[in-house]
Amino acid sequence: MPRPIQATLHLSALRHNLARVRQAAPDAQVWAVVKANAYGHGIERVFDGLRAADGFALLDLDEASRVRALGWRGPILLLEGVFEARDLELCSRLGLWHTVHCDEQIDMLALHKTHEPHRVFLKMNSGMNRLGFAPERYRAAWTRLNALPQVDEISMVTHFSDADGPQGIAAQVARFEEATRDLPGERSLSNSAATLRFGGDAAAKADWVRPGIALYGSSPDFPAASAQDWGLQPAMTVSARIIGVQHLQPGDSVGYGSLFVAEQAMRIGVVACGYADGYPRICPTGTPVLVDGVRSRTLGRVSMDMLVVDLTELPAAGFGSTVTLWGQASTGAVLSIDEVAQAAGTVGYELMCALAQRVPVVVA
Ligand code: PLP
Repeated sequence: MPRPIQATLHLSALRHNLARVRQAAPDAQVWAVVKANAYGHGIERVFDGLRAADGFALLDLDEASRVRALGWRGPILLLEGVFEARDLELCSRLGLWHTVHCDEQIDMLALHKTHEPHRVFLKMNSGMNRLGFAPERYRAAWTRLNALPQVDEISMVTHFSDADGPQGIAAQVARFEEATRDLPGERSLSNSAATLRFGGDAAAKADWVRPGIALYGSSPDFPAASAQDWGLQPAMTVSARIIGVQHLQPGDSVGYGSLFVAEQAMRIGVVACGYADGYPRICPTGTPVLVDGVRSRTLGRVSMDMLVVDLTELPAAGFGSTVTLWGQASTGAVLSIDEVAQAAGTVGYELMCALAQRVPVVVA
């Protein structure tokens, strides 16, 4: 018998969130970012919910092959490009667009004997200082690429470091615009935060936006704005059942390390979800949960396979009750992954990516 824990992927939420992103950038095409196995949701599982996107942006040839195997004939972009010359062959065969962010990748292309010309996204480091050519070196890289017979189209791309924060995107947009002025080709700048927060900024919208986290229903700038504020719906619900009930007297403690000590008589529920399922062990007492759709809280330390929730104010809850760890309860109540991530001192991205293999996923 399987343990009573389950993740539910909501295809309708993916469709809704994609439409919401389009609304924010109605003139742009949308790359649905499905790297890291669709932020932990599973590329094959999300495909149907995101097939209305204009393209899929992802990390490597394995992920690209999986999207092609699903029958997708449209654009696929490798967000970091290729790192081995031999991969250019497969890149051509799969018809991928690939990012070029350094001289070594241009050298590889120059040496490549290809029949299919390559479509590349030339990346600018406009301030993130991760991948890309510095603005002052960008035009030279573009000119070099443009002279290669192996390349038939060059698009221009950059990535924002503070689209979700107070610094915003203006300085990077200005650098990008200045360095690409008059260069022909499509442009792509914005991730989820930039698309939603600065959707009215024509330069930021450009030709393609590249949302990831918003598609999965997490707010790109929580806690400044919640997913609900942005009109996003959780793409995944993680829920588990209560498998045991205990009664505490004042002074009784809960779990490893006895971190929580009751000050009054309490009733608690033991839930079939622990850190081996991807629930963060670091979540402290008080992390929100929904018990049969009603908000409650965790108590004490999260164990490998179990965690404990407070049932004191929930007399109807007990063995078999459903605890929503994040997502949407059957009552319609929502607990955003962002709130749980905040309690763990991290972001929704990390929780999504950390969902364990052993949690069965049902597509709804
Ligand atoms: N574009 C690039 C280059 C990225 O690395 C990412 C994700 O980190 C995205 C777009 C999507 O970002 P987000 O999930 O914040 O929308």
